[in-house]
Amino acid sequence: MTKTVTKNLLSGPATLMYPKKKRTFAAITRGRVEVDIDRCIFCGLCGRRCPTYAIKVTKDCKEWQIDRLKCCSCNLCVEICPVKCLSMENQYSPALTLAEKAAAIYTSRKKVEASGT
Ligand code: SF4
Ligand code: SF4
Repeated sequence: MTKTVTKNLLSGPATLMYPKKKRTFAAITRGRVEVDIDRCIFCGLCGRRCPTYAIKVTKDCKEWQIDRLKCCSCNLCVEICPVKCLSMENQYSPALTLAEKAAAIYTSRKKVEASGT
């Protein structure tokens, strides 16, 4: 116990002076889900398996959408995606108020190439 007390007295505070100093997260930290929309085949599997219904996939307009306030970072969608176009970033989404909730719904659309004539 003496060793721990001495160590705590001699070391600096455990808290960081955020936002001046930002904590670095471990590579395995579950932060937020990101999509590589160019590789997505819009199968909708991620949306069907998501336990919190945070993901919505619209095949017709090639749209992938996530409500970040619903996501519980379980990583299931990342594991289930057949083409591995989802990834779990180790950075969290910025804090939001309820009024800013709309900003938490992230939408990614695939650019549809105009067919040549
Ligand atoms: S499971 Fe993967 S390929 Fe299928 S819709 Fe979701 S992100 Fe796209
Ligand atoms: S990490 Fe889990 S809760 Fe979040 S979108 Fe993927 S399946 Fe849904």
